[in-house]
Amino acid sequence: MLQRRIQIFICLILAVGLSSCGSVQMQAAAEPEREIKNITGDLYSFRQGRHLGLFLVTDEGIFVVDPTNHDAAGWLKEQLDERFGVPVKYVIYSHSHNDHASGGDVFADTATFVGHENIEQNLQRPADDAPLLAREQLWDKNGDGRIQESEAGGYIGLDIAPDGFPRYDTDQNGWLSRAEIWASRFGGGTIRAPDIYYSDRLSLSLGGKTVELHYLGENHSDDMTVTLFPEERVIHTVDSLIPNRLPWRSLDGGFLPEWIDWLYAVAELDFDTVVPGHESPGTKEDVLEQAVYLEELRDAVQAAIDEGKTLEEMVDTILMEDYVDMIEYDLSRERNVIGAYEILMSSGE
Ligand SMILES: [Zn+2]
Repeated sequence: MLQRRIQIFICLILAVGLSSCGSVQMQAAAEPEREIKNITGDLYSFRQGRHLGLFLVTDEGIFVVDPTNHDAAGWLKEQLDERFGVPVKYVIYSHSHNDHASGGDVFADTATFVGHENIEQNLQRPADDAPLLAREQLWDKNGDGRIQESEAGGYIGLDIAPDGFPRYDTDQNGWLSRAEIWASRFGGGTIRAPDIYYSDRLSLSLGGKTVELHYLGENHSDDMTVTLFPEERVIHTVDSLIPNRLPWRSLDGGFLPEWIDWLYAVAELDFDTVVPGHESPGTKEDVLEQAVYLEELRDAVQAAIDEGKTLEEMVDTILMEDYVDMIEYDLSRERNVIGAYEILMSSGE
């Protein structure tokens, strides 16, 4: 982001004399589908599409955080073998959502898998007749315990792409059960379970280097690990804090006000750089900015609920205008309001 801004700035200054500006900007926009970038020292990020994971190299092996998916992990394994020639010894899950935790099987012959203890429950398939969660019951307008396609999209409801319903409805019976909604988030049994679960904090050492896993409460999920690299002064916050971007869409699966408390707890950790699971790295200031954003969002939506406003009125009036420059403001602001409403209404706040 910053790089692109600098390029545009240079282009503006040199517009007359530098005819290649357009092509420089086009190159910046066309990022490769996959890439590895050094963060600092022996710590690297790897990216496939819009997803970022991390790895730390030591003489005795490699820590990987978030295998991401089958294709990304297979490619990463090849790259690690080629570049470093030491095996992956630990795979750390930031959380159990399938778009970050899938694909780890390729490292299973050499690695120990580690994650927060709540992952164990989240990877369990609910019974076919399991009741909808409180928030999902808000979408179930006809109260039949199922989510029909007409209830799945729109103003309030499962926040999925227009073509998402047939993919989620794996038995093709025209409605989603609790188990099908679960499978859409947690991989439906395809994610390799951790070998080691921890509750509050865990330190892992390898080749003279240490990685710290911190559980600081609920946020975007209830099983989120902040991975701290003390020597590198870097933390990995994945989906729960993406610098300069609003929280994703309808805060799906998220928790308020716990998420705000979590952000303030993250800011207490000793680090300089935040690496998220999407977009670009940031700093502690980004953590605090997001905490204030979520506080303002929560307060505005709660006040509107207390005043008896409709959700439509909330979407029209809670504009969060201080944040218009953040990535995907247009895409996420409206869904953030709806998500906050759903969470606050279903948690009895
Ligand atoms: Zn997630």
